[in-house]
Amino acid sequence: MDQRRSQLTDLELLLEVIDALPDAVSVFDLEFRILRLNAAASSLVQDGGIDPESVIGQSVFDALPNIRHSDWDRALRSAAATQTPALFERFAPSVGHWMETRVIPRGQVLISITRDIEERHVAERRASESTAVLNALLDSTADTMFVKDGDGRFIAINHAGAAIVGMAPADLLGKTAFDFAPPDMAERAREAEQDVMTARATIRTEDRGLGGRYFEVARSPWYDSHGELGGVVGIATDITERRARESEKALLAEAGRVLSESLEYRNTLHAVAQLVTPALADWCSVHVLTPDGSIETLAVAHANPDKVRWARDISQRYAADHRATAGVPNVIRTGRSELYSDVADDMLVRAAVDVENLHLIRELQMRSALIVPMSAHGRTLGAITLIGAESGRRYTESDLPLVEEIARRSAIAIENAELFRAAAAANRSKSEFLASMSHELRTPLNAIIGYSELLSEGITGPISPAQQEQLTRVRASAAHLLGLIDEVLSFSRLEAGQERVVHQDVTLATILEEAAALVRPMASAKRLPIFIQPVNDNAICTTDILKLRQILTNLLTNAVKFTDAGSIAISAACDSSVCTFEVRDTGIGIGGDHLDRIFDPFWQVEQTASRRVGGTGLGLSVTRRLARLLGGDVTVASVAGQGSTFTVTLPRVPLPKA
Ligand code: ADP
Repeated sequence: MDQRRSQLTDLELLLEVIDALPDAVSVFDLEFRILRLNAAASSLVQDGGIDPESVIGQSVFDALPNIRHSDWDRALRSAAATQTPALFERFAPSVGHWMETRVIPRGQVLISITRDIEERHVAERRASESTAVLNALLDSTADTMFVKDGDGRFIAINHAGAAIVGMAPADLLGKTAFDFAPPDMAERAREAEQDVMTARATIRTEDRGLGGRYFEVARSPWYDSHGELGGVVGIATDITERRARESEKALLAEAGRVLSESLEYRNTLHAVAQLVTPALADWCSVHVLTPDGSIETLAVAHANPDKVRWARDISQRYAADHRATAGVPNVIRTGRSELYSDVADDMLVRAAVDVENLHLIRELQMRSALIVPMSAHGRTLGAITLIGAESGRRYTESDLPLVEEIARRSAIAIENAELFRAAAAANRSKSEFLASMSHELRTPLNAIIGYSELLSEGITGPISPAQQEQLTRVRASAAHLLGLIDEVLSFSRLEAGQERVVHQDVTLATILEEAAALVRPMASAKRLPIFIQPVNDNAICTTDILKLRQILTNLLTNAVKFTDAGSIAISAACDSSVCTFEVRDTGIGIGGDHLDRIFDPFWQVEQTASRRVGGTGLGLSVTRRLARLLGGDVTVASVAGQGSTFTVTLPRVPLPKA
């Protein structure tokens, strides 16, 4: 009796518990009649506008007609028929939530438990949305993005990354780099991942990857929800193009440097050929068109010098055929590049002159070739040939711009060298002309000076005071003219490189005296004193005395010319290696913007004084050239209106020739 009561109590208790459950629990017999509804199920029925009490004992399909043909209908029938549980999810519009219903067959009854899974659904939806967003993000970039576990196995990778290996992302999951990359490459990746996990920090590396491409990889550690190190995430950017552009830029800069280094274009083109081997080619040759129209092999380069000698032999033995419709002669004739991406053997057979020649060409192992013209200003001066041989390099259209640019710069270098040579030759003949002209002018001028002196001495007859004055003017003008001619003569001799230097010991005190004495009459006429500052009597400079005297007189003459009041001072000093001469005046000075130019030939400051005093504008240019010829220089310091100081420095003893 007690046991029954307690059993009843247990049943009641159980029903209470079932009623208290948040899940809707309903019990049906095998004819789908509703036997029982717990509180949650009753309230669901009520939500549908039906009295829960009234449905007990009714077939569920009669009580709730709209469940016919629904998932619930199918689940009930299947559980009853198969005696196995059935499960389905549906959206319940009455509550606006997702529900999960499980129908469990238990002997003669079916128990249906419906649970509100809205929260789980929302969480799942969010998770799947964020996965979708993440995947969209991963696939929106051309960079490779990946996540790996601590053993280097892919947990995720985007399409771009998987495509490099030629796979879909799903195929790579669970694999490591050792499954698809060469062992040394996979090993480097593994080491990099280990480093990141040890350092627990982001590490960037640049490395060669699959397909000969270069990647910059940034790897960072990732941590699981317990804060444990999970593995490595990484972003790999393909930097092959960037590197190629950088090295192209560097190569062009280097070619520019080599080409501007000297005007000896034969040497520079040789250096260019060396430069592109092996950066751009296994072989490089440079051909130029000679003035007689033949084609000369100027340079051949290969990493191996023995091969270069051998190739030179061939090119000498088999001169290029001018009429050839392909190859170097054709490129030079048409000014258009030729690209042979794949050189097949039958092409060699056609190109060979004879059997021996074919044998030699085959030895080159040519696989690919590129011939570009060296053209400048519409003229083709030669061609550069690049050959891909043992390296397996293949040329494509994309190689053309860089090589054509190098060839264009080479052509400009050749042209500049030619122009320079022509200009130097023209300059030399101009200087030679000036030198001989000046010489020819001096002879009659000396006669004019000589005869006017004879006249003024009255040897040929008496001279009136008026005639005497005119003769003095003739002599002064002739002397001035002679001075100008001498200046032009010095300049042109210096320009033509005809000045010879004769060294002797020069006492500084003496040379100052001599130079001052030459200018003193001119200075006295303007009432300008010339002060010579005392110099150690024994101070000696070993140099060319005539040239030093000319330097000092030029500077003193200018000082007098451009000074109206005040004085001129001249000084000299020597230390163990350098002798310094200074010529100071208190004249009109030179404005800062003119200081750089006064040493240029034929240049004069545009001013009333220089027009008044006249001159060629050659004096300072000659002075500086003379000083440089003696191994020294002339500099100036001046303030307009306050005078100028010209400083000459010369080596105390001649410098050994470089
Ligand atoms: P020239 O004296 O024949 O004109 P130079 O080459 O000797 O040629 O001098 C160039 C110019 O430099 C002069 O025309 C003048 O304007 C300026 N110059 C040279 N020396 C002096 C000086 N001591 N003071 C001021 N100006 C000077």
